Amino acid sequence: MELSDEEWRARLAPEQYEILRNKGTERAFTGTYWDEHSPGVYCCAGCGAELFRSDAKFDSGTGWPSFVEPASLSSVLTEVDRSNGMVRTEVLCATCGGHLGHVFDDGPAPTGHRYCINSAALELEAPS
Ligand code: FE
Repeated sequence: MELSDEEWRARLAPEQYEILRNKGTERAFTGTYWDEHSPGVYCCAGCGAELFRSDAKFDSGTGWPSFVEPASLSSVLTEVDRSNGMVRTEVLCATCGGHLGHVFDDGPAPTGHRYCINSAALELEAPS
């Protein structure tokens, strides 16, 4: 899915645009979902693709919604991110290329992964 920058600006709220298209980060403990415990599927706020399931969500204490794994192996892509003097692994939506957050290797067993995702990149869909 490819849209022009102008189309993304028209489609997204300013905070969504800043994170998804400009690789921004929301401040910890300010987003909609860091303390969310409802069941459902977290979809991409840019394109609607299913990204993370609520049963993979855990309380990381970081102030960002955190998951042990994506909804499927093909839901997200990762890239090395060397910005801000750190080497991190960036997580992107596989469908629209939107920036979601980063994945770290200090998550709980069994995956050991912590997908640290911006609330503004997500929209929770309740089970129907
Ligand atoms: Fe997307």
